[in-house]
Amino acid sequence: MPEVYKFTSFTTSNCYILRPFNNDICIFIDLPPDLHEPLSYVKENKLTIGGALVTHGHFDHALGMQDFESSIYMNLEDEFLARNPQEQLAMFTDSELKAAQYEGDISNLESIPYDFIKTHHNPGHTAGSTSFEFTSLGLIFTGDFVFRDSIGRTDLKSGNNNKMIDSIKNVYSKFNPDYEILPGHGPSEKVSTISRGNIFIKEYLND
Ligand SMILES: [Zn+2]
Repeated sequence: MPEVYKFTSFTTSNCYILRPFNNDICIFIDLPPDLHEPLSYVKENKLTIGGALVTHGHFDHALGMQDFESSIYMNLEDEFLARNPQEQLAMFTDSELKAAQYEGDISNLESIPYDFIKTHHNPGHTAGSTSFEFTSLGLIFTGDFVFRDSIGRTDLKSGNNNKMIDSIKNVYSKFNPDYEILPGHGPSEKVSTISRGNIFIKEYLND
């Protein structure tokens, strides 16, 4: 697997940084609330940020938008979630964490300037949930669509269980079995291993 920087937020979500061009340009996958460490990594390694791809609008993947100064790309069906984190924060944490509305720019996925990045719309966890595939590197960033041992919950705002099942049958099923999945929470794993070992994926692929 090519070198990928992984930071796990206090919210347990993963932020990934990769350098797909073998130069100093790096791309972020997801922007958790505590971006300090990933941004220090960028600084220490003298990298130039080429933008962030955000898998969906939940605060544990998007609240870092507030502290991010480069282009942000996401499926705009999730824009309302990303811009309004406070409601989710109140549900998810017992902390006193307060977050303002995000007023900065969010660009749609069509405007990603790198044509080698494949986007897969996989609604279910949220309406705009998206996986990002780096074909040349054999990597797929799935956010809260598919984890190593489970799948994303569908009982939150704009979640939909039937759409999740459709996404597994029509999107996940077409993932290259040799590629590595880097999920929004927990460890990475090969697609073929997940297809054999993840009971949710197994069930929905086979029924
Ligand atoms: Zn989520």
